[in-house]
Amino acid sequence: MGNLGDIHKARERIQPFIHQTPILHSSQLSKRCQNNIFLKAEHLQKTGSFKIRGAANKVMQEVAKGTTYVTAASSGNHGQAVAYVAQTLGIPSTIVVPEDANVSKVKAIQSYHGNIVACGLTSAERIPKAKELAIEKQGVYIPPYDDPLIIFGQGTVGLEIIEQVKDADIVVVPVGGGGLIAGILTAIKETNPSIQVIGVEPEAANDTYLSLKNGHITQISPTSTIADGLRTSQPGDLTFPILQNYLDDLVLVSEEEIKQALLFVMERMKQLIEPSSATTVAACLSEKLQVLNKRIVCVISGGNVDVHTIEPMLAGL
Ligand SMILES: *Cc1c(COP(=O)(O)O)cnc(C)c1O
Repeated sequence: MGNLGDIHKARERIQPFIHQTPILHSSQLSKRCQNNIFLKAEHLQKTGSFKIRGAANKVMQEVAKGTTYVTAASSGNHGQAVAYVAQTLGIPSTIVVPEDANVSKVKAIQSYHGNIVACGLTSAERIPKAKELAIEKQGVYIPPYDDPLIIFGQGTVGLEIIEQVKDADIVVVPVGGGGLIAGILTAIKETNPSIQVIGVEPEAANDTYLSLKNGHITQISPTSTIADGLRTSQPGDLTFPILQNYLDDLVLVSEEEIKQALLFVMERMKQLIEPSSATTVAACLSEKLQVLNKRIVCVISGGNVDVHTIEPMLAGL
């Protein structure tokens, strides 16, 4: 695996494709959490999530090597990011989605001229299909997290946080397959190891929590958290050792805590964010970090949520 230098190179390479997203601050949220809370606003990123950073870094380098076609297996933010980057670079893409994929997500991929192929219901069916389609046309399959170039791209979030929030004490990051946090850990720990980095998973998708506890990659059965970007069944072979090496802590949040955080950010801060992102705010609001008066940066990883689903999702709060 590479290091800080690779993340700086990624930053230069992807700069024309992405926004340097702002930092938002809320005194209400800070007061409620008894810490000074800053939000890194990747829900305002192009394509609506940080996933474009890794996708741009990976696809650009494949295109530089002569690739003229890419595929991915994702109904969500990674699929949109790969389709968008491919379109921008002028090459076709095929995104393999589950047969029950959400219509609004499929439409978003199509708006970036990604070809849609529906296949099965699980990633175990979709990934081989996406790899097979890539091979058929001498293209390249773009994985969602377990790839050095994807990790370096996601790590650019960490470089921006260091510059934008002076004297940050703690950075809180949602954990799915671990690409985002592995990149942020590399960027932060190789620049300023005194900044703590803490991961957050839903209780219902605690594969990384269990893996860290067991000291080896541990798989969980399919889960149904509302944080749909964090529903991975196990951490990656490349991402997991980076977490083992650098991570300060990993906390779990309940579905109820995620919903409450989502509502708080939408109502009080007027920001449309998706449930996966709300987990970092949930960790602060529910006092899982057990700290006071610290400068805490919560990574808001994305904002892609079908607005019609929000009200039923929050019902009963
Ligand atoms: C993909 C994703 C995550 C998790 O990222 P990993 O690199 O898989 O850990 C978190 N939030 C959102 C919005 C995502 O799209």
